[in-house]
Amino acid sequence: MAQRADHNLMLHQNLLFRQSNTGEYQIVVPGAIVRPLVEETHRIYGHCGTYKTFKLLQQNHQFKNMYQTIKGIIKVCDLCQKAKISNLTARGTNVKPNPGKTKRNDIGRSHGALTEGTRRV
Ligand SMILES: [Zn+2]
Repeated sequence: MAQRADHNLMLHQNLLFRQSNTGEYQIVVPGAIVRPLVEETHRIYGHCGTYKTFKLLQQNHQFKNMYQTIKGIIKVCDLCQKAKISNLTARGTNVKPNPGKTKRNDIGRSHGALTEGTRRV
């Protein structure tokens, strides 16, 4: 593990900063706080997508595999997952296959399937 001398690094109040190509110092985010940082940014900006979160963080922060890490964290966001599910449900209710053509036997069968499914969950 050879450490390359990096003259763009600066330690300030126990935080490591690295000078970017544009000359501005960015925080080198310690691994332990990458997740909370990404989660908070994602939440504060209204559960924005991976790209926007990445762009926001990129302005002042650096960490390893930035885009992939952000993508992985947002992918498992609770609220975004639920939003996705409700979107699918809303879309599903618009689909009305053969309205008024349902036979009594069909109702009985689908009701049974629903009860069975509920019990399993
Ligand atoms: Zn989210």
